[in-house]
Amino acid sequence: MQLFHFLKNSVEYLSRPGGGGGGGAGGRRGGHFHRGGTEGNKDSFQETPVCHFTIMATIVMESIGRVFISLQQIRGVPRMLTEAAPSMPGTVRDSEVPYYFRERYVCTGYRPLNQNWRYYFLSLFQRHNETINVWTHLLAFLVLLVKFRQLGETVDFVGDRHSWPLLILLLSSLTYSAFSAAAHLLGGKSEVWHYFFFFLDYVGVAQYQYGSAVVHFYYAVDEGLHGHVRGVFMPAAAFLSCLSCLGCCYGKYCNHSLPTWVRKVCQVVPSALAYTWDSSPVVKRLASWSAGGGGGDDPAIVYHFCQVGFFLGCSFFFTFPLLERCFPGRCNFVGQSHQMFHVFLSCCTLCQIHASHLDYAGRRELYARLHGSGEAAAFAGLYAATLAVCALIAAVMLRKAKRVLDGDAKSK
Ligand SMILES: [Zn+2]
Repeated sequence: MQLFHFLKNSVEYLSRPGGGGGGGAGGRRGGHFHRGGTEGNKDSFQETPVCHFTIMATIVMESIGRVFISLQQIRGVPRMLTEAAPSMPGTVRDSEVPYYFRERYVCTGYRPLNQNWRYYFLSLFQRHNETINVWTHLLAFLVLLVKFRQLGETVDFVGDRHSWPLLILLLSSLTYSAFSAAAHLLGGKSEVWHYFFFFLDYVGVAQYQYGSAVVHFYYAVDEGLHGHVRGVFMPAAAFLSCLSCLGCCYGKYCNHSLPTWVRKVCQVVPSALAYTWDSSPVVKRLASWSAGGGGGDDPAIVYHFCQVGFFLGCSFFFTFPLLERCFPGRCNFVGQSHQMFHVFLSCCTLCQIHASHLDYAGRRELYARLHGSGEAAAFAGLYAATLAVCALIAAVMLRKAKRVLDGDAKSK
């Protein structure tokens, strides 16, 4: 602020009639110059062109002053955080948290359990082994929100029923990224909350699988495949989403007493089945396009290739902790395979949304003929039902996990 006043006074002084030449007198007046000098020369001051310069300069100086204030406030954020949480405990080693909280090859950077909620929320700005996992999906959530807003400017999500599958994909993408960010941020609170938030994360993933299935079947399918799977595709996709949710929750639940690979098998096998089924219309379309020599004007093809490529990448990093294994103990903060999984999944989702929007805009004649206007409402209803069943599965598994934890507590 002092700098601002100094600059403002200097400009007013220099621009004042006679002020620039009489530097010594003006300078000696100091703070009084500001009021007295301006009042004393009021009439002549308003009539001179220099007045405009003074006003402009004052506005510029005030703007610069505001920028300085903003910068000072931003620089003060770490201090404010420290003051808000004066006793934020440091991170701990893997041996100090329950074994089912531990990630393979991640030795340290765990947040201690049973702190207050404020600690876990503020840990968003702390360096620990979940920081990047939270931020990757939090940023993805914000990007998806912007994308949703952009699409809302051109797509009539209320009046046009054919846009509902795209709307389901957008909502399911926002949901899974928000649930995932919450799980990584708050799942370290306690054993019960760990299960609660990660089961919520699995509900998010399952309903996103349904969102993927509905856009692929609605917009990307060709006439031949549609003839074979019509009437079966979406009910099967809903079933596989629920199976995937059950597999992920059960795998996490088993992780309490069984080795990590059991969790991975329970999570990966149903999810792989769901993905294979849900993506079959896209894979068939890509295969047909490739067999046709890549000819034809199809702007969505490149984004479909990208979404499949990104998904294969994220499957790899989800299944194999390659980076941690290559650099054991050096990926505690950054470089974990799960972080790569988040980044690839977010890129996959963005490509998928873009491709689906292009299909929605460019293939209307085909999908309107294949599906009619009633199917979109039925698929939206099935989405709600799938979400409800997944939530029920998660609630039942949480109860089971809670019973095991209560048993553990009693036996201690
Ligand atoms: Zn995650």
